[in-house]
Amino acid sequence: MGAGFEELRKQFGIVADLEAAGGVLGWDQQTYMPPGGAQGRAMQLATLGRVAHEQLVSDDMGAALEAAESEVEGLDPDSDEVRTVRKARREFDKARRVPSEWVAEFRRVTALAHQVWEKARAEADFRQFQEPLEEIVQLRRDYADFFAPFDHVYDPLLDDFEPGMKMAEVKAVFDELRPAQVSLVRDIVDRGRPVDDSVVCQHFDEQKQWDFGIEVAKALGYDLERGRQDKSVHPFTSGFGTGDVRITTRFDTGFLNTALFGTMHEAGHAMYEQGVDPEFDRTPLGITASLAVHESQSRMWENLVGRSRAFWVGFYERLQEVFRGQLGQVDLETFYRAVNKVMPSLIRVEADEATYNLHIMLRFELEIAMMEGTLEVGDLPEAWNSKFEEFLGLVPPDDAVGVLQDIHWSGGMIGYFPTYALRNLIAAQLWGKINEDIPDLESRIEKGEFGGLLGWLRENVHRHGSKFEPVELLTKVTGSG
Ligand code: ZN
Repeated sequence: MGAGFEELRKQFGIVADLEAAGGVLGWDQQTYMPPGGAQGRAMQLATLGRVAHEQLVSDDMGAALEAAESEVEGLDPDSDEVRTVRKARREFDKARRVPSEWVAEFRRVTALAHQVWEKARAEADFRQFQEPLEEIVQLRRDYADFFAPFDHVYDPLLDDFEPGMKMAEVKAVFDELRPAQVSLVRDIVDRGRPVDDSVVCQHFDEQKQWDFGIEVAKALGYDLERGRQDKSVHPFTSGFGTGDVRITTRFDTGFLNTALFGTMHEAGHAMYEQGVDPEFDRTPLGITASLAVHESQSRMWENLVGRSRAFWVGFYERLQEVFRGQLGQVDLETFYRAVNKVMPSLIRVEADEATYNLHIMLRFELEIAMMEGTLEVGDLPEAWNSKFEEFLGLVPPDDAVGVLQDIHWSGGMIGYFPTYALRNLIAAQLWGKINEDIPDLESRIEKGEFGGLLGWLRENVHRHGSKFEPVELLTKVTGSG
């Protein structure tokens, strides 16, 4: 390629390095940093965020971009070069609308808010978190204004996580899904055969849970030479290039599902990032296609693989060996039913597949109301509880298991939640195609062979990074959007 393209790669590499350094600091904040580090860390993240942003919107970057655009003219529109330049243009134009001061302030406020949220959640007291959240909502409104005019104030926020997606499109999907989902859950609760899940609600030693989780993650294909696991309040995956993609988990010694399925979920994310073409490292294509696609990967490994009967045909004896006292006398069918129990519950990340999307629709509606200004942050806990009762028939006993349960709002990630529901749909769509292409998939899973599945995902999804837009990628792979 020409000098312009090489210059563009060089300039973007600097942005990627700064972002990765910020990522490591963010990972450290949630894993090992002592509470006293909060103020200093907020400033460090603000500085790195500002410098990265200044680099992204610099005149040098603009000049390199223009030169590269003329160099790739006439090349195959699906080539890596054309896609790199196109993605860089999109990032550049978006970032140009946002002042570096806003970026620094947003990083500082959210870093501090994280600490406040952790404490408020631990003490089940929303009032402590109210002021930081008010600041964050205002910052997000300011952010949306940089992209005016828009159809809806939520659209610019959503676009950061799901490129090109509009609030109205998500709403249309949810409006169709919700009545059916609510009545399905009601029917199961009222008329379904009761499921006894007491077998997963016994005491399970934390270290043994840790070891088994790692064993499963490795078997699925998570490469620990390029990854590691630590503990955090809220499980997450954080990657700093394809050579270092880390996961975290959390434990409940009275409930097996939390860490077990949480680890499979995060390993699913991590395998996606580890599978991006290493050639794309430090380039605009070195990130994943979108959050919904990202989450489709985690949900696929967690639910379509991890909660399947086939998976436990292969793994249950091993789990029984580890927890002889708890599960030695429990047959496979009982265990399989227990980990698939459908019952409205308070915590989103532990929700079953039938109720899960309702948790998302609730957050989506509350976020829109906050952004529109029709819901004051101070009224959020009451709004949460009444909507929760309407959707799931339960009232949270306190804020810790209600409005404070998720980390996202403290990180300013308003507009993120809808991707969690879309991902379930994408995962199912991909799963249909995978089963066509690998007809003996189930028997392979029974044997504990996941290489074929991972290979398919690598080939069709992972390696492309963000080369294709989400709908474009899905259409390429499955034939429909
Ligand atoms: Zn996830």
